[in-house]
Amino acid sequence: MGPGIDGLPAAERDVDVSGPVAEFLGSVSPRVLTRLRLGLRAFEWLPFPWRFSHLDDEARDEFLRRMEGSSFRLHHELLLMAKVFSTLGYSVDPEVERRIGVEISCRLADGTLPEPAGTLGEMTPPGEGEECDVAIVGSGAGGAAAAAALAEAGLDVLVLEAGGHYDRDSYPEGRLEAIAELYRDAGLTIAEGNPPIPIPVARMVGGTTVINSGTCFRAPAEVLDEWRDEHGVGWAHDLDPYFVEAEEFLRVTALDPERMGRNGQLAMEGAAAIGASGGPISRNAGSCVQCSSCPYGCEIDAKRGMHVSYLPRAVAAGARVRAGVEARRLLVEDSRTVGIECLAGHGDGAGGSRRPYTVRAKRATIVAGGAFGTPELLIRSGLGGPQVGRNLHIHPACWVGARYEEDVSGWEGVMQSYYVDEWESERILLEATFTPLAFGGAWLPGTGRRHQESMLNFGHIASIGVQLADRSRGRVGTMGDGSLKAGYRLTDDDARRLAFGIARAAEIHFAAGAREVYPNIARAGVLRPGDLAGFEATRFKASELRLEAFHPMGTARISADEGAGVCDERGAVRGVEGLYVADASLFPSAARVNPMMTVIAFAKQVAAGIAERAAA
Ligand SMILES: Cc1cc2nc3c(=O)[nH]c(=O)nc-3n(C[C@H](O)[C@H](O)[C@H](O)COP(=O)(O)OP(=O)(O)OC[C@H]3O[C@@H](n4cnc5c(N)ncnc54)[C@H](O)[C@@H]3O)c2cc1C
Ligand code: SF4
Repeated sequence: MGPGIDGLPAAERDVDVSGPVAEFLGSVSPRVLTRLRLGLRAFEWLPFPWRFSHLDDEARDEFLRRMEGSSFRLHHELLLMAKVFSTLGYSVDPEVERRIGVEISCRLADGTLPEPAGTLGEMTPPGEGEECDVAIVGSGAGGAAAAAALAEAGLDVLVLEAGGHYDRDSYPEGRLEAIAELYRDAGLTIAEGNPPIPIPVARMVGGTTVINSGTCFRAPAEVLDEWRDEHGVGWAHDLDPYFVEAEEFLRVTALDPERMGRNGQLAMEGAAAIGASGGPISRNAGSCVQCSSCPYGCEIDAKRGMHVSYLPRAVAAGARVRAGVEARRLLVEDSRTVGIECLAGHGDGAGGSRRPYTVRAKRATIVAGGAFGTPELLIRSGLGGPQVGRNLHIHPACWVGARYEEDVSGWEGVMQSYYVDEWESERILLEATFTPLAFGGAWLPGTGRRHQESMLNFGHIASIGVQLADRSRGRVGTMGDGSLKAGYRLTDDDARRLAFGIARAAEIHFAAGAREVYPNIARAGVLRPGDLAGFEATRFKASELRLEAFHPMGTARISADEGAGVCDERGAVRGVEGLYVADASLFPSAARVNPMMTVIAFAKQVAAGIAERAAA
């Protein structure tokens, strides 16, 4: 889809795009792959009676331009899918990066490397299984924090993680390889709906904290009020000591404007110019100064993900961590959870590379597989009742990019750097976020040559993420073959709020000097100064928004009302003894801010209760 322009090579002719993408897609589940194949086949035959791949460069360009200007939603969805994959394969080519000028090098302000984190011990699962006091499924924000708390309370803790272990000595070097290996389904977990929304989550030791942006917020007081008053989370306002401890341990530090990079500074200047409140973001990456590549794993581990923080701490207190162990079914005897049937090893089992592995837990079992993995396991085990998997909130989000005259080189700065909370009453939070080209390139305007020109101009692009605390809901379930499915319905009211948030991000960009803004709504095209009033006067349907989401939560929520949630106030799953949840699934509703710190605080609270009851 990139015929080549002055300054950038042609896709396929000069740069192999389809080969790496085909290899990349080899790591997604058969279900996702089937859907992608169908979509790509439809795209190939759209110029019927011709096939897209048989058209010459001119005819392709013309066809893509027509697709872009089409009023059919299907055309836009297929075009976006084709753009996503072609950009993914093209933009990670080292020569393409070099021509655009992208240079990624993680470093600390003083040029040193962060100290080594401590060991995780032997992570290969031994024999056919093992015993422990407390088994924890999942090693992300919730699982790791709970493991450290329980091991330090003297319990024998075993953490089971489906993904592999990576750190600064072993992150995959290639960008596509990193996405394929570190993310569940190569990052292609998608909630079906109108619009479909990609919701990537990680699958590795340390969970999503290893590839996240390191932004640290406490849940706002109003959210905690709601959770206490409307959902019966009596301890919602007692989390401060957990927040304090986690912030100290993870060395959470507010960025100083100097280190934000130009992407964050422009958002700060634009917000100040229109009098919108906000501030530099606090992060768990100490004094890192580079480089907007957090979603590939931080190559120096400056970011204190769980693999270099709570997990080594848990292991130092006696916990065991097992990598490549997927919990398949919870074992229940006499209404009590007594362990977990797992598969150990990597691969899909067809080649015999995975073996049965059984864990017996004497005191408690904690499910902390994240808002997808937790309901998936509960549903497969027939536990959790009718509410399990429901109430999925995701913080639907989109990037609002803008082109500036000046050089931005957004990769020379911290990925997520400045927040604007002026429009909290609309449930909108803006965050200056510069994503790597492989993730953000498809959102750049144009097709064919025009899209390549946009990519060549990437150094002049700045970007603000718009995030909504959603009242819309989705649902996570399983297919007949046990695989994950997710759906989400964006309400008209939430769509309106998102369009409002996009307008505010555009306003900030223009106030900071942007020449044009990309609102990520096909019908709206490119906005220039003066276009904002017209944009705001237009009503967009939910299906017209191009969204992503990074914060799934709520799928095994706490509720005082038995009929409205899965867990009681202790985080215990109703209807069975000895089974707890300790991850983002517990949240009664959308957290409003990036959730990692609140997940940690919730997990510590649940773990403290388990430790107390075990000691009684
Ligand atoms: C790109 C991106 C950027 C983000 N940036 C931020 C940010 O800057 N700040 C912030 O606060 N939040 C951020 N988040 C969200 C944040 O990382 C998550 O909300 C948080 O990690 C959720 O914690 P968790 O414990 O619920 O799940 P996770 O951290 O996702 O951990 C779940 C773990 O359980 C494992 N698992 C699942 N099922 C099984 C099973 N059956 N058997 C064994 N293991 C299993 C998974 O492999 C995974 O490792 C970001 C998310 C993404 C995707
Ligand atoms: S921006 Fe992210 S990847 Fe780069 S050094 Fe900082 S934490 Fe690491």
